[in-house]
This record gives sequence, C-alpha cells and structure tokens, in this order.
Amino acid sequence: MNELQKRSWAEIDLNSIEHNYRAIRAALPEGCRFLGVVKADAYGHGALAVAHRLQTVGADYLAVSCLDEALELRQGGVTMPILILGHTPYQYTETLIDYHITQTVSALAKAREYSSEAVRLGKTLKVHIKLDTGMSRLGFLCAGSHFEQGVANVAESCALPGLEAEGIYTHFAVSDEPGEDCEGYTRAQFRLFTDVVEALGKRGVRFAIRHCANSGAVVSYPEMALDMVRPGLLLYGYGDPSGRLGLKPCMRLVTTVSTIKHYEAGTSVSYGRRFVTERHTRMGVLAIGYADGLPRLISNKCSFWAGGSAPQRGSICMDMCMVDLTDLPQVSVGDEIEIFGPHNDINTLSAAAQTIPYELLCAVSKRVPRIYTEG
Ligand SMILES: *Cc1c(COP(=O)(O)O)cnc(C)c1O
Repeated sequence: MNELQKRSWAEIDLNSIEHNYRAIRAALPEGCRFLGVVKADAYGHGALAVAHRLQTVGADYLAVSCLDEALELRQGGVTMPILILGHTPYQYTETLIDYHITQTVSALAKAREYSSEAVRLGKTLKVHIKLDTGMSRLGFLCAGSHFEQGVANVAESCALPGLEAEGIYTHFAVSDEPGEDCEGYTRAQFRLFTDVVEALGKRGVRFAIRHCANSGAVVSYPEMALDMVRPGLLLYGYGDPSGRLGLKPCMRLVTTVSTIKHYEAGTSVSYGRRFVTERHTRMGVLAIGYADGLPRLISNKCSFWAGGSAPQRGSICMDMCMVDLTDLPQVSVGDEIEIFGPHNDINTLSAAAQTIPYELLCAVSKRVPRIYTEG
C-alpha cells in the first residue's frame, strides 16, 4: 500500500492464525483431523493466505462454500484436500474431479446426477454425505419418521458408481449457544448423527471421516470431535468466551483521520441530522464507511479506539464517518484509528449492530486492503 494513500486497511496476523490452529489442535483427541473453514474469503481474512499457512502447518482439510472459492485456492497453489460445503451443479462434475475437490452430497437425486456424470466421464468424484439432523438446511432428512428412508437413501447414494464416499457429516444449529435447551438440541442432533452412521455401518456402509463439530462444538462438546473437527470462527480468534483455548484475534481493522473540524454547540452532523453537538466539539472525519463494511446500523451507537475511546457521531456514510475527538486532543490528521482489534472488541460492535462477529468480519469489503503481518 502506498503510504500516502493510507485510508483504511485490515491488518491480518498469520502467526495468530497459526497460533489458533495449534491451540485448537492441542485440545483435540489423538488422531482427530483438522478441517479449517476458509469460506467467504476466510471470513474476510483472505482465503489464499490463510489456506497456505494452514497447509504449511499441517492442517488436514479445508472447506469452502462453492466451486469458485475452491478453484481460487487450487489456482493459487493450494494442494491439500478441499471440501465444498454448498451445492455445485452436476454440470461441473468434471471440474470437481480434475481439481481434486471433494463435493458435499445432500440428497439422493443429487448423488444420482453426480454419479451418471462421473460414469460418463469414466472418472470418480470424492464426496462427503451431509445429514440434516436438525439444522433444516442442506442434507438428507433423517429425523423421526424419515430415519429409515434417510438411511436407505444414503446407502443407495454411496453404492452408486463413479462416487467415492469418503466422509459423512452434519451441522449443529445451537452448539454455540448456552442453556439447557440448546444443549439438549445439540446432543439430540449428535445422537441422531451417530445413530444414522451406526445403521449405515450395519448395512456395510462405512466412512473414513465422520465430522460434525463446528466452533461451538469444539469449545463446548469436545466429546463430539469424532474423526475431524470443522472450526471456522475459532481459527480467526473468536468464539471461545471462556478464553480456555487462549486464542488470538487475527484481524485489526484500521482507518485514518482525514480532517478535524471544530463546531459550536447545536451543529447537526451528517445525513439525516441524527446527531447535534451539545458542546464545542472537535470532530474527526474518518476514511471508512458502510462501503468498507462498517454497518450503518451502528451510527451513533459505537466508539472506536484513538488512544482512548472516541464516540462515533452522526449517520455513517458510504465512505466516511465522524468521531468526537474533543477529549482526545493528541489525535491529529493522518493518525490511525482502530475500528476493531485488541483495543476495541469486535463483540461490542457486533452487539451494537444486532449481529454476530462473523458478519462484521465478512463485511470488510474488497476496497479495504489486507495487510499481512507476522506477529
Ligand atoms: C460455516 C460452517 C462451519 C464453521 O462454522 P463456525 O461456527 O465458524 O465454526 C462448519 N461447518 C459448516 C457446514 C459450515 O457451513
């Protein structure tokens, strides 16, 4: 980045990614594999950089949400196994096979499509079977009255020519939420998953990799690790409220002060005039707005770090927003302001935005350069 063009950027510490990987891995049972979820550009951290680091340190698998994300990694030189969690149209079966990408299969009809395409090509597609145990999203239905049919459909899918069923998995809906209800629901999902796997085993259908643990389960239900865990958020340093794993947040979002103005009391600020100064105010204009990923919803409801806490004032604009620097006289034009990072907790910002840290991380837009640091 050209120093003179300094506007806003995201500092990403790859050593912290590595630290988090090792910390999570150290808490896993012997022999458990590690899949790093790098979908959505590695939660905004840059999929290629994160994937290369995970490959170097010995992670076993990566997961992305779609074919384009998988191809970005392959074309960027990532050679380790990659699982696509979402749907890929069967017309891309050859691409999946040629790039050694593992595809999720979430229904018998899709298994048949991939199978006939693979057979036509004379090749084999590696797949993981996805069970819907209560997330009600992708996956073979198998709860309650669907159990027998679900097991039969998975068995039939796995027996199809041209498919190699390496794994089977499911996804939890509330493993990251506290309370008895959520715990009961998560345990019921896990039990259903293991029941289906057992029923398949009795039919002679076995899988090398059974996996279900997302970040919430890695933290709260270590006994559900099975053959592989699938953390995303944890890898980036969030999602362990107890601090037990000693994770380090990997991203610091930074902006700069474009100008500083002095206003009399009673001056309205920004679009909609939603803030009016109550005193003589020294107001900083920051070079970050909602087009950079700062949610407009937190206008007037948050503060940033400028060596002290600087309250944000007025509606957040597309490319700029304002902060009150009256009580921070040492801050001057060109200075760096931390939007979130070690001094300004992303969880406070996401709560103000009525969302979760995931959304703020993914929202950091492509206009914001990623600057990789090494600790
Ligand atoms: C996104 C995702 C994960 C990772 O979730 P985290 O809560 O970030 O750990 C794991 N599995 C599936 C199927 C996902 O879609």
